[in-house]
Amino acid sequence: MLWPSYRAGVGWKLKHLKFHNKMAIDTQLRFDPDALAQVAKDPCVKFVTHSINHQTIEVEKWIPTKKKGELYILRPKLRDRANPYVCTACGEPVLLKSNQHHHHFFSHLSEQAANNLGCPFRSGSKALTPEELDRIRYHGQREGVRHIRAKALIDRTLRADANFTEPIVDKVWKSFIEGWRKPDVRTTWLGDPIVFEVQISNTYPSVVAERTNFYRDNGTLLIWVFDKLPSEWRTLHADTFCANGQHLFVVDEESTSVSENSRKALLRTYRLKPEVVPTSNKIKGRLLLERQLTEMIGLVPFEEFQRNYEKQTLTLFNLEAEEKRIAQKVLCARSYANLDVNELHAQLGKITGTKDNTLAWAALVCAIESLRIGKPIVFKDFSPIQIVNAIHDHYQGVLVFVLIALSQTWSAKVNSSKWSKREQDFRRALLRNKTDEQFIPFIKLLSRLYPETDWEIELRKISPLSNSQEKAASH
Ligand SMILES: [Zn+2]
Repeated sequence: MLWPSYRAGVGWKLKHLKFHNKMAIDTQLRFDPDALAQVAKDPCVKFVTHSINHQTIEVEKWIPTKKKGELYILRPKLRDRANPYVCTACGEPVLLKSNQHHHHFFSHLSEQAANNLGCPFRSGSKALTPEELDRIRYHGQREGVRHIRAKALIDRTLRADANFTEPIVDKVWKSFIEGWRKPDVRTTWLGDPIVFEVQISNTYPSVVAERTNFYRDNGTLLIWVFDKLPSEWRTLHADTFCANGQHLFVVDEESTSVSENSRKALLRTYRLKPEVVPTSNKIKGRLLLERQLTEMIGLVPFEEFQRNYEKQTLTLFNLEAEEKRIAQKVLCARSYANLDVNELHAQLGKITGTKDNTLAWAALVCAIESLRIGKPIVFKDFSPIQIVNAIHDHYQGVLVFVLIALSQTWSAKVNSSKWSKREQDFRRALLRNKTDEQFIPFIKLLSRLYPETDWEIELRKISPLSNSQEKAASH
């Protein structure tokens, strides 16, 4: 019977080993410094911050990563003023304690002080919602090392530009309670109050919304700035980017030193601008227009931005207005290509008056877009002279505006020695036949679609005669 005795032998050995190990723990290693620490169930203080290196610790995640020995070494150090961990919410010093199960937790050095400050982590306070916890965690992260560096870069950038008053930078670590109404950097631009807030890793929509409302009510413009372009910005930074009309700002070493050298505050500005481009496929052999988002990034002087205190935006273009312009350009091209202006006339009828005028408007927009883009939009071929001739033959009422467009810096130029005389003839013909009233609706529409040109002034330049007629009429 070899088998049973073999089993018995193994059994004895296992029993013996267990007994041996148990004895060793009980008698020699009652406390194991290498064992991982355990966190007390539901600790009051959820986040603590090191007040010197500004690292914020999420207590329930951090304690279980530490060995018991490390924590017992740390405990007496926390009583030392030189190494102050503070509560992320109220900024009061905290102690590391352990309960009867030897599970660890942080508690305020002075519960009285935490109570007086209304700390959300004081013992006996109501449980916080995940959103409230997120906001406190977020605050802790913002106050980290990268955040301090970014504040210093903003400070240098603003100091470079004489239009900003001396920036006030908050340099001391701020608790959640005191922090959120103390902006990172405060200044004024030509007398108007502006605050800059640094955004490092996470955007909490509630924080952004709350602060935006606060500063709007106080007549101050709040500008969020990042310390680098995020690699996954589309999801991570979407809130700030969209709230600011598709513009996002970064300060870094390069933008700061260029600002200092040029004595102008520059922000690295990422933006997505909607634009019209020729359709990739021709329809009826002609190019139409379609909307496209163009990605742009570069250093932009602060003075070039439009500041909107009501919307709390700092932008190079008005997104809403651009979208409207684009929609109309796209519709004009489609209407002109199909010689069907019903939809366009329903939109513009009050301004243009007649469907003939609406069609002339659609043709004019296609002519201007052709000159601007350098490709024939709905027109058969692209040459400025052909476009002028086509408008002259069919839509004489708007020819003057094509001539104005041709004189603008953004327009393609006529490359012909005979052009000068032809242009003179065109102008003379225009002035014989036209009166100012006919131009008024088109000036209104052009000023909306191409605000970079002052169409009224350009019209006076091109037809001084019409000006004198007007004077004669008023006598
Ligand atoms: Zn506290």
